[in-house]
Amino acid sequence: MRKVVVISGAGLSVESGVQAFRGKEGLWCGHDIAKVATGSTWLANADEIRDFYNARRYEIGRAEPNAAHRLLAGMEGSEEFELLHFTQNVDDLLERAGAAEVVHLHGSIRRLRCEMCGHARDVGHQRIRSALCPVCRTKGLVRPDIVLMGEHAPEYARLRSALRSLGEEDALVVIGTSGNVLSVGEIAKQVPGFKILCDPTPSAAIDPRAFHEVVRLPASEGIPRVLELIHASAGSRFPVGRWATVEEEAESGPVGPVKPGRMASLLSWLFRSPRPADC
Ligand SMILES: [Zn+2]
Repeated sequence: MRKVVVISGAGLSVESGVQAFRGKEGLWCGHDIAKVATGSTWLANADEIRDFYNARRYEIGRAEPNAAHRLLAGMEGSEEFELLHFTQNVDDLLERAGAAEVVHLHGSIRRLRCEMCGHARDVGHQRIRSALCPVCRTKGLVRPDIVLMGEHAPEYARLRSALRSLGEEDALVVIGTSGNVLSVGEIAKQVPGFKILCDPTPSAAIDPRAFHEVVRLPASEGIPRVLELIHASAGSRFPVGRWATVEEEAESGPVGPVKPGRMASLLSWLFRSPRPADC
């Protein structure tokens, strides 16, 4: 069966009122993003991190899944293709829309993990006041089970494996991500298959020429178009490097040339052998 790999990001949940994690000016509701999202300093900022993720959990608990979440959840049951969905979002809106097989590349805001014993638990949308681990009773080493900046992301191994498995008749769909964390534009250039970018806003970090189709619509309106495009491309072959042309946008838009350093880091990211920690 044809494979469709989806990589989704914050744009999916914006229509549910969930703010993108990377706020403007590096702030999110008064919190310094660098402080609450950096792995190497989380212990020094543990109180602020707890408050920040309490607020985000509360916000996500009040949000409702939107049409984009429901459409993606519905794609899991497709008879036309096998969906492999990787999201960078830490919210649970896809699951609440009925999705059961989404890989959360950066973890889940509903989960807490003890750094001492490794015990992880689902706390739903609750506010957490105590940092006591219910299993090993260690205090102060319980943290959100999400990947902070600079930390290893174990689920990237599954994404790499899915990307490596793509063939010329398969498809890659990138929805609602700026490309600042995952170099999705470079990934699109390196894999075979029919490639679609769905995002209302051009991003300087994504070269649209890497995609065969660019859908400049919010996710809820864009995904029906994405499904039409996937359907229409069935049976065609798309080898690596045969990029279709979205030249006008590339020339007139704010998209800059791909920096050699970014490309090199992507290549090593995508094609390096998995380290033992990835498996
Ligand atoms: Zn523990």
